[in-house]
Amino acid sequence: MTMFDRKRQSPRRTDEALRLVSVTKVYGSGDGAVTALDGVTLSLPTGSFTAVMGPSGSGKSTLLQCAAGLDRADQGQILVDGEEMGGGGEAARTRFRRERIGFIFQQYNLLPTLTVEENTSLPLRLAGRRTDPERVRAILTQVGLGERLRHLPDELSGGQRQRVAIARALVTRPAVVFADEPTGALDTRSARDVLGLLRETVRRHGTTVVLVTHDPVAASYADSVLFLADGRLAGHLAAPTAEAVAERMTHLGDVVAERHAHNSPLMEV
Ligand code: ADP
Repeated sequence: MTMFDRKRQSPRRTDEALRLVSVTKVYGSGDGAVTALDGVTLSLPTGSFTAVMGPSGSGKSTLLQCAAGLDRADQGQILVDGEEMGGGGEAARTRFRRERIGFIFQQYNLLPTLTVEENTSLPLRLAGRRTDPERVRAILTQVGLGERLRHLPDELSGGQRQRVAIARALVTRPAVVFADEPTGALDTRSARDVLGLLRETVRRHGTTVVLVTHDPVAASYADSVLFLADGRLAGHLAAPTAEAVAERMTHLGDVVAERHAHNSPLMEV
């Protein structure tokens, strides 16, 4: 039995929105092989807001791509809302993604010829689900764009465009929303608004959000932070402040250096 009830057009939720078990991803092969994710195991409860942080090259984007079904892990299991992703071919994965996962990208990725309302309802149309104009408008009102339904993206500010992207990510009631540096292209004030909106969405609607960022201030909006170093989990911080996150980040460099020292062939000489 599928956990997705098409008639109600609303998913049945488990307590665990996302689980990764020993997920590994290697790019390339032979001498040029890079292990971007090295046996990552984690569990995120439904209704949690988690930031993923780590130095450049630590595997944040790869984690997001694999967990969100945009790329295929080489080993391990990924479960979204209790159901395993990865069975079947590309089409099955695309369907899985469209039904269960929402995305927010740094560059918004709105279609320039579609209005705010049309951009927001697009995921429903792509998933072959009924578009409910009332619901689309309610979500756009919730993100503060109730008066902009017929506008085109280039008639909006960066912050407003990202709000459309948030509405679009929420419209299918996904089990998990992945946000990849969603404030990277915004000024400080718009960034704060967008992060506040994400946090409010989690609180009010029990949405599960995973925020990938390199910005300690952005991470401080989350309930907890997972740190990655060299493709492995390297720590966890609950109720993060920007200062505490920044402090941990400076120590991640030490973790990486230590691992390299232990793995170094020179140690065996
Ligand atoms: P982050 O998002 O934390 O900067 P990435 O997930 O982008 O880290 O990268 C993790 C590692 O995998 C890095 O060493 C990076 O160079 C490598 N990598 C990422 N994407 C590819 C790719 N398409 N081909 C080869 N190597 C890649």
